[in-house]
Amino acid sequence: MQSEGRGTAIITGGSRGIGAACARLAAQAGWNVCVNYTSNVDAANAVVAEVEAAGAQGLAVKADVADEAQVTTMFAVAAKALGPVTALVNNAGILENQMPLAEMSAARFARVFSVNITGALLCAREAVRVMATSRGGPGGVIVNMSSAAARLGSPNEYVDYAASKGAIDTLTIGLSKEVGGDGIRVNAVRPGLILTDIHASGGDPDRATRLGSGVPMGRPGTAEEVAETVLWLMSDKSSYVNGALIDVTGGR
Ligand code: NAP
Repeated sequence: MQSEGRGTAIITGGSRGIGAACARLAAQAGWNVCVNYTSNVDAANAVVAEVEAAGAQGLAVKADVADEAQVTTMFAVAAKALGPVTALVNNAGILENQMPLAEMSAARFARVFSVNITGALLCAREAVRVMATSRGGPGGVIVNMSSAAARLGSPNEYVDYAASKGAIDTLTIGLSKEVGGDGIRVNAVRPGLILTDIHASGGDPDRATRLGSGVPMGRPGTAEEVAETVLWLMSDKSSYVNGALIDVTGGR
């Protein structure tokens, strides 16, 4: 298994929110970091600057995780520039405006599922192709970003998003069994209400703050609190943890 500082980590959606926090902590732990983004190049470049300030190598790579060709190119570019890829943080994810299922369009389902499910599957596939010891790879770690929504269901907000995160949990369980003997550990983190921009995408920018008082710990969480768990799963300290779904929710 990989230790800290022994390879390159690709962090999808690494330019903002939870992914950016993972990128910063990964660099501090000695990983070289590919900061993936899809539209906001300034945010990605700012995270790369922080990665480099921590003494690691960083690279911003624009790629839509839902696009197969862009994903395969990203893996090749990252390995060439930063060295063999031994960690994937499968973090990129989207949601859309809050509404009941009865109001949702098929086009919306396609958008959410293509990024949240197909994107995660494509990136995990590429990671297995380069990491699996049976394919000549060095082994590695995959951390999938699920959500507490996978078990809460997000009624009247976005059951489509919640369903996509249920798929991430199932992907984690299945792939962990498939490649556990191939030197690859696969786990998922399920954040609760975390203070990032994603809630604005659902038309409710203050959602985490507003609902935070109802969390058993009485507050929303930070991206850094999620990233600490991700970094633990990337490290040898979790060397026998495989197929786990770890809630980071303040008890929600
Ligand atoms: P965020 O602040 O909205 O950031 C999303 C990131 O994903 C950005 O870096 C964005 O890049 C990138 N991205 C979006 N679509 C992409 C695509 N098609 N290809 C590549 N990158 C893409 O989100 P966040 O809150 O940090 O969420 C990160 C993950 O945690 C998501 O999977 C989300 O479902 C999950 N999560 C979040 C919470 C929460 O409360 N925040 C709770 C549970 C789970 P650009 O800047 O270029 O657009």
